[in-house]
Amino acid sequence: MGVNSGMPLKVTPIIKVVGDFCNLRCGYCFYSCNNQNTPRKLSDVLLDRFLEEYFSLFDGNCLFIWHGGEPLLAELSFFQRVVDLQRQYKTKAHSCIKNWDIGKNGLPEMRVAGDV
Ligand code: SF4
Repeated sequence: MGVNSGMPLKVTPIIKVVGDFCNLRCGYCFYSCNNQNTPRKLSDVLLDRFLEEYFSLFDGNCLFIWHGGEPLLAELSFFQRVVDLQRQYKTKAHSCIKNWDIGKNGLPEMRVAGDV
């Protein structure tokens, strides 16, 4: 019997957008012992490659979780690029694409970037 027993393989990626970078300093944060002062944003090249490969490997409903630190410190333009690339790489085999973030700084901005 195969690894997925003939069932479609589903993977929900959790993408670290800005490393541990965050400006909120919550007392309970599991990153508080790390360097939360240095932004390290996921590069455009790696973002493009990741989304192209993801859409070539998986179909159906796709959920992406954008994580940090505080992922929205990558700025709205980053997430607009995410949506543009998802629209570029999705096919008829991708029925629903959702983007969630688990940051706290800018949920309204994420909603502006939108789902595909
Ligand atoms: S918002 Fe999240 S990443 Fe930022 S300090 Fe709070 S728990 Fe940590």
